[in-house]
Amino acid sequence: MHLWLTPAQLSAIRASVEQENPNEACGLIGGIIDGELLRASTILPIPNRAVEPRIHFVMDEKSLVQSMMALESQRLSLVGIYHSHPDGEPIPSREDIHRAYYPGTAYLIVGKTNIAAWDIRQGDVTPIPIHISEGRPQIVSSPRVIPYAALISAVIAFIFMLTLALALLPPPPDIIP
Ligand SMILES: [Zn+2]
Repeated sequence: MHLWLTPAQLSAIRASVEQENPNEACGLIGGIIDGELLRASTILPIPNRAVEPRIHFVMDEKSLVQSMMALESQRLSLVGIYHSHPDGEPIPSREDIHRAYYPGTAYLIVGKTNIAAWDIRQGDVTPIPIHISEGRPQIVSSPRVIPYAALISAVIAFIFMLTLALALLPPPPDIIP
């Protein structure tokens, strides 16, 4: 997976982080899943309702539902979830890993001095490259797509063979009364 943001989208995220500082900011990144590229189209900040917002984030439920519905009505996917670590590194905390409910989305963390994105699946954490550009970034496919491609070809080959086998079946015998 790769995450692609335009400079304006990154600025929108930074503005949301600055506005919430010293609390953690959080929000959604809506966009298009284009193969391995998570292509951002819109940044939707969500109020942080955590009891201790300086060290945790809990998205406001109503705002979260409204934002998800807005994405759906625009036929956009949830491509990322961002939050900030105002005093720390952009590395997922144990809580962040535990509460990563959307596999396949980029978990973008804005740290005190730098940003990073992560793929979090059932406790496995993998860094995701972030591309900041106006134009589509050139990405090199990761080896992870190969097994899927092989699987899809195998399924297509199986369906083809099945169709062929059915086509080659001898015609049913005539039933003589
Ligand atoms: Zn965190």
